[in-house]
Amino acid sequence: MAIATVNPTSGTMEMLIEPHSADEVQERIAQAHAAARALRDTSFAQRAEWMNAAADILADQAEGLGELITVEMGKPIAQSVAEVHKSAKAMRFYAEHAQQFLADEALSDPSTVGATRAWTRYEPLGVVLAVMPWNYPLWQVVRFAAPALMAGNAGLLKHASNVPQAALFLDTLFERGGFPQGSFRALLIGGSEVESVLADERVKAVTLTGSEPAGRSVAAIAGDHVKKSVLELGGSDPFIVLASAEVGRAAETAVRARISNNGQSCIAGKRFIVHTDVYDEFAAEFARLMSELVVGNPLLPETQVGPVATSAGRDELAELVEDARAKGASVLAGGFAPDLRGWFYAPTVIADLPEDARLIQEEAFGPVASLYRAHDNDDALRIANQTTFGLSSAVWTTDPDEEEFFVSGLEAGAVFINGMTVSYQELPFGGIKRSGFGRELAAVGIREFCNLKTVWRA
Ligand code: NAP
Repeated sequence: MAIATVNPTSGTMEMLIEPHSADEVQERIAQAHAAARALRDTSFAQRAEWMNAAADILADQAEGLGELITVEMGKPIAQSVAEVHKSAKAMRFYAEHAQQFLADEALSDPSTVGATRAWTRYEPLGVVLAVMPWNYPLWQVVRFAAPALMAGNAGLLKHASNVPQAALFLDTLFERGGFPQGSFRALLIGGSEVESVLADERVKAVTLTGSEPAGRSVAAIAGDHVKKSVLELGGSDPFIVLASAEVGRAAETAVRARISNNGQSCIAGKRFIVHTDVYDEFAAEFARLMSELVVGNPLLPETQVGPVATSAGRDELAELVEDARAKGASVLAGGFAPDLRGWFYAPTVIADLPEDARLIQEEAFGPVASLYRAHDNDDALRIANQTTFGLSSAVWTTDPDEEEFFVSGLEAGAVFINGMTVSYQELPFGGIKRSGFGRELAAVGIREFCNLKTVWRA
């Protein structure tokens, strides 16, 4: 795959970038290795100063960077600008809280282990490789980089090949904030070159956000070299509307949950599971709202849904819809590629899916929602858990017993009640089953790439 910006709104190549040579990759690993050694001896206060300065640089360029994100991957401009600010906020969050999250923890009664004192300490691992996706070109990277650097690690970024300009911006961002040279370096390489980087002795761990096949491949390499890995993979999150729910509000939120980021979010509600008592009301309102969305140029402020980021992604989405339609499913809204120049797909709602429809098991990465009628709460839970993924979930109910039933029964890394899943820097983020393992964000996120050292004193 060429490393290039191809504007999904027009299909035109905006920039083709020369990949790094093997020597350049070696040079960057060496820089990161030296930076990691320097960083582990710096104080939290010093790192926080650099991180806050980098956050200021990011926030000051929010408009221009927002435009760059939209040109590279097609999300509506307001969402791109919001992503820049969200990233800067997370950088400041870790600047403020890293020391507290990584403070030594003493055993309250050390005599139980025959010690006068026993405690744990979090230490950086060294150089950590991040393999990242294009759907949130800044946010996905920053939510790794901010905690990793604040813990005293150095980072290497292998970004998705279709967002090289975002990668190049991130390549210098932390250094511009004051971090030592090499603390965070982008590698302009293809997926096939990840193996040799991860195999390098100087690289201690890897985090990958992306698809299940990519995760499987990278985790296998990490396993082979006995290196820590964190995987944030796909999702096919259930959005469950129960009989006691406020149906109108649930339908409005369901639309936002499905089409945010042009429908290309791992934590988007993708399967809408509705209790039979409110199914018809919800289905009509949801389909109406989805078909009224403004689809078009994402640089225009009135646009609600832009293009799918790649032509292959758009074709895959269309195939999933055609598969369901051919097997007898009903299309309640959309179900076609609009007559526009780029890689657009109309916001779509599909119901009455037969058991063998691919949409039941596969992730629809674009504005396509599938709708399921649940006979009762047990049936809703069964449908919700029938996927191999387990990232997040949403449940709409006003009944506390129902709430508890779903909170404990859902096989997912998170449950959002009467809302839609959103990532917050204060809350742990990650999945189970084939959505991956490990957690990002909050205190647990900064600890993932630390050595938890136990100290015992006689
Ligand atoms: P992708 O094709 O897996 O790519 C993700 C990254 O992995 C890219 O940098 C890609 O590089 C690289 N890559 C792909 N195959 C690889 C391999 N065999 N070995 C090493 N690296 C490899 O995924 P995507 O299409 O960019 O992103 C969409 C997927 O990411 C969806 O499934 C979505 O749900 C998931 N996602 C998950 C989260 C989460 O937090 N759980 C967040 C966002 C997205 P190239 O671009 O060079 O191929």
